[in-house]
Amino acid sequence: MKTLKLKRGKEDSLLRFHPWVFSGALVSMPDDVAEGEIVRVVSNDGALMGLGHFQIGSIAVRMLTFGDEPVDDSFFRTRLADALRLRKALGLARPDNTAYRLVHGEGDFLPGLVVDIYGPTAVMQAHSPGMHLLRETIARQLVALEGLDVTNVYYKSDTTLPFKAGLNPENGYLIGGDAPTVATENGLKFNIDWLRGQKTGFFVDQRDNRTLLRSYSHGRKVLNMFCYTGGFSVYALDGGAELVHSVDSSAKAVTLTEANVEMNFPGDTRHRAYAEDAFKFLASVEDGAYDLIVLDPPAFAKHRSALRNALRGYQKLNAAGIAKVAPGGLVFTFSCSQAVSREQFRLAVFSAAAQTGRRVRILHQLTQPADHPVNIYHPEGEYLKGLVLYVE
Ligand code: SAH
Repeated sequence: MKTLKLKRGKEDSLLRFHPWVFSGALVSMPDDVAEGEIVRVVSNDGALMGLGHFQIGSIAVRMLTFGDEPVDDSFFRTRLADALRLRKALGLARPDNTAYRLVHGEGDFLPGLVVDIYGPTAVMQAHSPGMHLLRETIARQLVALEGLDVTNVYYKSDTTLPFKAGLNPENGYLIGGDAPTVATENGLKFNIDWLRGQKTGFFVDQRDNRTLLRSYSHGRKVLNMFCYTGGFSVYALDGGAELVHSVDSSAKAVTLTEANVEMNFPGDTRHRAYAEDAFKFLASVEDGAYDLIVLDPPAFAKHRSALRNALRGYQKLNAAGIAKVAPGGLVFTFSCSQAVSREQFRLAVFSAAAQTGRRVRILHQLTQPADHPVNIYHPEGEYLKGLVLYVE
């Protein structure tokens, strides 16, 4: 195993268990280390800091352990068992809730790895070349994990691996195949399209926020913007909404939403879906036509460089939503951009509210659910933020 040496003083963040080593912290960028190789990281004095996956880029090493344990089958068995124990303790793995996140990267001490569970299928994403190289090992351990009952592992990393690594990963089943595609979330059924859908096929991270929305839906006219699979729409209908309109610019998303609504509420005429641009749709909405509006757009800032434009985007979108909602109505507004902080998002929503001149109060401050834990030493793991606004 190769050894990478840190510049003097650069061990401090590792001593505080932050799992990333930036390339600038290394004495020199090694040229004989391959992408995805497991390396030893030592301080300038030669003290072992731990082992991690090497990667070419600004994050040079993602730490897997701050000890000297071998990264082998048993390593993954233990980490995955820990992850499952937490989900079981949270009561998430139940017959009426078969969709949840089992591994949330750094939040489960497995940087570069995401695993979502949909009943008997695990959908796995590698965000680092190191995890890509170990995909078969991880898949085997997932299937062998006691209490998980997974028989299929679908690998989906074509959009998550660094393009420059040239790994050309192919999406496909590593184990099993031809798996059932309907999973349940809090008793509601969803068709999960991991083959063609975004991310792992479903946004499990909105589960708690959808549950909150359900509790406010009774008798309301709901508009679900950026509906994708219609998660919020299905919960709103379940909560007794008077009507639910779902909007997404993608026709495929609209079809997915309609299918999910039909599966849970066959023949229900309260729902309609529109394939249209969100901003255009909102502009044509009559003032007060809806008394609950959900704004859950895709990440406007994928990188820090896009921050200014992203904040302007959030302000514009929220101003449109706040302006249109009926007096006494609610706006559920979200940002899943990791580069946008909680404070920045709130400031963008504040500016939007001020622009409309309406009286706005924050009822709830929302975040990601417990199966997306944030490693306290890695605050970057917190990405989802939301506000529930009461608009008069
Ligand atoms: N709210 C969803 C997740 C949203 S993902 C859930 O709970 O599952 C973001 C969605 O926004 C995608 O489906 C994408 O097709 C859609 N989208 C992106 N840009 C859009 C635009 N300008 N107008 C409408 N929808 C858009």
